[in-house]
Amino acid sequence: MPPKTRYRRWNSFSFFLRSTMWDFLNLFFPLNCAACGNYLFKNEKVICTSCLFQLPKTNFHFQKENPISDIFLGRVKINNATAFFTFNKGSRYQKLIHKLKYNRQAEIGIELGRHFGNTLMNSKDYRTVDAIIPVPLHPKKKKARTYNQSEMIAKGMAESMNSKLIADVLIRSVHSESQTQKDKIERWLNVKNVFAVKSTDSLKNKHILLVDDVVTTGATLESCAQKLLQADGIKVSIACLAQA
Ligand SMILES: [Zn+2]
Repeated sequence: MPPKTRYRRWNSFSFFLRSTMWDFLNLFFPLNCAACGNYLFKNEKVICTSCLFQLPKTNFHFQKENPISDIFLGRVKINNATAFFTFNKGSRYQKLIHKLKYNRQAEIGIELGRHFGNTLMNSKDYRTVDAIIPVPLHPKKKKARTYNQSEMIAKGMAESMNSKLIADVLIRSVHSESQTQKDKIERWLNVKNVFAVKSTDSLKNKHILLVDDVVTTGATLESCAQKLLQADGIKVSIACLAQA
């Protein structure tokens, strides 16, 4: 048998094996959609087609001025800003974010990041992005959660945008208290000097996309962007997975 045929045969056999294994495993350990809980089909990953289709997308990336860019107006110089989707309290999409943050389901972030990145590639404002930087978590918190959820989102986005992921330049230097019980000014004071940029060399003249999981007051993102803007010739855009 010529090697090429042998290779082809092995390839189709291995495909058959993998797909049979998937069916077999799924029979005993069915994989469920992280949003609605229904069983996933073979071609679906993490989130089912129906939940992806019904995702309340903002499409803000197709308009320069939008509710997310308005948040930063007059506060910090941002090129473009957007969020992938919005969620209501108690919705399956809020639960999805909760699972990503607290239930050690990193694949939710990576998969949604991939979809978000694909969408952004349709916008001329985001196609010029050189590198993606996630909002950092304090090392202690990262250890407790086992990963930084924003980094997982950024990882998926870097993949589909064919861009570089830089996760070690922007760092969180102070362990801040939880933001959830604070008002706008308290939140801003709380994060003002929390972040630092290790070295601006790798950021010079780059278009950086700063990524976070959820945007509320924008205080954290504003603080991160201020630090990044210390690099010469840098342009900073913002992309959040969800708007609360
Ligand atoms: Zn679903």
